[in-house]
Amino acid sequence: MTITHDALPNPTKKSLPILDAKLAAGSPLNGSPQTSGTGVLSDEELEAHVRAHEAAERERLGVLRERRQWVDTMLNPEVKRAEREKVTLLISGLTKAQDFLVEGALRGQGYKVENIGCPDTEGLQIGKEYGNRGQCNPTYFTVGNLVKHLITLRDEKGLSAEEIIKNYVFFTAGACGPCRFGMYVTEYRKALRDAGFEGFRVMLFQQQGGLSQASGDDVGIDLSPKFFIAIIKALVCGDVVNALTYRIRPYELETGATNRVAEQAKKMLYKSLLSGTNVFAALLSCRRLFDSIKVDKLRARPKVAIIGEFWAMTTEGDGNYHLQHFLESEGAECDIQLTTAWLLYNIWEVARDTRERELLRVADAAKSGLSDYQGEFDIAKRQAALKLAEWGLRVGFQAFALPPGLHGYHLPDMDAIAEVANDYYSNDLRGGEGHMEVGKLIANVVGKKAHMTLSVKPFGCMPSSGVSDGVQSLITTKYPGTIFCAVETSGDGATNFYSRVQMYLYKARIAAEQELEQAFRDTGVTREEVTAFLAANPEYTSPLHKSPHDAAGEAACLVHEVAPLIRLTRTERLVKAAKQAGSGTVAALRTVPGLARRAAERAADPEFREALACDLAILRDLVRGKAAEHYGPLVRRLAGKAYFENNAEVAHLIEPIAAE
Ligand code: SF4
Repeated sequence: MTITHDALPNPTKKSLPILDAKLAAGSPLNGSPQTSGTGVLSDEELEAHVRAHEAAERERLGVLRERRQWVDTMLNPEVKRAEREKVTLLISGLTKAQDFLVEGALRGQGYKVENIGCPDTEGLQIGKEYGNRGQCNPTYFTVGNLVKHLITLRDEKGLSAEEIIKNYVFFTAGACGPCRFGMYVTEYRKALRDAGFEGFRVMLFQQQGGLSQASGDDVGIDLSPKFFIAIIKALVCGDVVNALTYRIRPYELETGATNRVAEQAKKMLYKSLLSGTNVFAALLSCRRLFDSIKVDKLRARPKVAIIGEFWAMTTEGDGNYHLQHFLESEGAECDIQLTTAWLLYNIWEVARDTRERELLRVADAAKSGLSDYQGEFDIAKRQAALKLAEWGLRVGFQAFALPPGLHGYHLPDMDAIAEVANDYYSNDLRGGEGHMEVGKLIANVVGKKAHMTLSVKPFGCMPSSGVSDGVQSLITTKYPGTIFCAVETSGDGATNFYSRVQMYLYKARIAAEQELEQAFRDTGVTREEVTAFLAANPEYTSPLHKSPHDAAGEAACLVHEVAPLIRLTRTERLVKAAKQAGSGTVAALRTVPGLARRAAERAADPEFREALACDLAILRDLVRGKAAEHYGPLVRRLAGKAYFENNAEVAHLIEPIAAE
């Protein structure tokens, strides 16, 4: 770039500081040798001119000081074995039930643990005060929440900053990725430094999850499969309690009954996780508690599926203006997203990446660790292990869900979601919820899963804004009648947020009422008849009863379920049920020849045989006790990814990061 002297201010005018600075600093402009002699400034001359002006201005304004570049010195924080008894792990970041239960599970593993609670507006303000500018809302909330807690320890409990740094550690999520999640850890450290806690340890599983960490002699936090299993148990228990609570509460007859029961259930599960007693027995005991809640399922409640950015849609506090509570206070039923579904998404991501990269000409060490899985069979083995992990998670979830009475809960089919979303949002785009947000909206509309879909996008969130504001507009056009509401959480605009939700909720409420009326018309029964039937058949009024899915709303589903039974006697109903079961069996038997033929075809398929060989290899490893050795790194990666959005490949964090 060049600029002529004529374009610059007149150097003889003293009122122009730019030239005073230039002259004072001995600018290259001050004399002919510094110019090209053609009256035109070179880029270097112009740069020098600007620098001289900046220096002069700094001097004039009294801000001339040495610039210090901050280097993160806590890239590899450690907790030594000797510290284990003294160090307290601080945790936070998921739902209230899960944070509470993870605390119990880790205490049960012998750690000192403290749940620092759900981030609130005070945390947001502290996050903004100490954080870098331009971050997304969850960053401010979560970073601020930690700093707030440490300030409380210092100013209210009288601990010195040194004691806090020595005796507390924060465990949190970390990742590399296209959104700001990858920078959380640096944000934590920057804010902690500025708040007077420089050197405070923020532990990321992704960085600390190497095998040596898990088995070394001087490791204070043993990231063994036992450790992760304890966390996953707590997460799934939390999911089950949350799903039951949100399913029952909108229909409770006594306000507060569900919350009371949920608290008791959480305490029972906490005790079991802490003491290491049978968690299934504890879950079974919760069933009696939930079953005691009196409900009226004939209320037409608009079902609202909450989707969006993971943290914003999951948190239950100021971070989303207590969205779930607000929706229920307005008469809605919340269809929340479970952490187990997020785990499945993580498994799906790894499986897809492995599949997509399988045929790269050179093994790719940068992303999915294929360098560890060279050779076709090894990659196939990895795929089989991922399938097994998915299957295990689905079965495991149902094993946790059924004892307390969470019947008929279907975890999303990740392949189906990916397929329906792919035309609008590439499956390869990551960050936030990726294509899941788009897929879920389509599934909700097409499958009549909810009356309304509400997408929560945090202020400043790049991926979520692109999806909610951009792609979802196309989906709502393609699927007319969709009630889709995208809301942004900035932390200080609750009134706007609530009024926007109310506008859409009004439509959803009408839709729920119309759907129920339509159910009465379609089935030819009246409300009075259904009410009388329910009074005579209490099994249908249990809070744990789940009607087959025929409509979005629970009330309409119940009408569809009981209407055919209303004019039958109990004996006729039993006969009908038996006939249905019988016809189901006959239909199944009729398919046997076809099944046998397909099974034979499949058995001859080389791909299937190879997959089977992999499955058998895995089973053999399991039987021989070699599973931990062979699959430990993968399990750890998945488990870490699940709870902490783990990616082992965060090599960039090993380099010092300047953040000022
Ligand atoms: S998905 Fe959005 S809100 Fe969440 S960490 Fe990334 S940028 Fe922030």
